[in-house]
Amino acid sequence: MFNLIFKRRYAMAHRLLSGWSEKCAIPHGHNEVVIATLQATVPMPLDGGANMVMPFERAKRIWHRWIDECVDHSLHLAADDPLLDWFAEHEPQRLARMLITPGDPTTEVLAACMMSKLNAFLVADGGHLTCAEITIEETWTNAVCFTGDPAAVLPVMARRAWWTRPDDSINDWHRAVAPRGGTEA
Ligand SMILES: [Zn+2]
Repeated sequence: MFNLIFKRRYAMAHRLLSGWSEKCAIPHGHNEVVIATLQATVPMPLDGGANMVMPFERAKRIWHRWIDECVDHSLHLAADDPLLDWFAEHEPQRLARMLITPGDPTTEVLAACMMSKLNAFLVADGGHLTCAEITIEETWTNAVCFTGDPAAVLPVMARRAWWTRPDDSINDWHRAVAPRGGTEA
């Protein structure tokens, strides 16, 4: 079995309200690195010619575009964080930049959400590859590695959650908010 591994760096900010650290309740940022490990859904022998798993470059392009355009410089908040109400009231145009998690946006929940999102992209792209492991390096010294089924560790949502959809979304919440002066789509 070959593991195809790719890395991407992004900047993010978050705050953790229900943890043990008062420091973490203040919005603060990290430059994180996400390392995705992909495997072929159906392992095949090398063909003696091209000798590679073909969809790798395409999968990488889709994933890195999402990281660069949607996750980079996003603000990660728990779904019940009152800061979301503040943005809805004062800067609703920025809600699409909020990555919203059920409960505090820890590196653990982010790793599970990211694996789920990457697998949604991979299924939509033909299902040749699957994500076997996601590592997020939050700092030089702290990392979280997730393997297994994200659905087993993430709550089931009433609607199809953003981490299960192969689109650009990083939350489900902003959809319910009509833009200022506009009408709800
Ligand atoms: Zn932090």
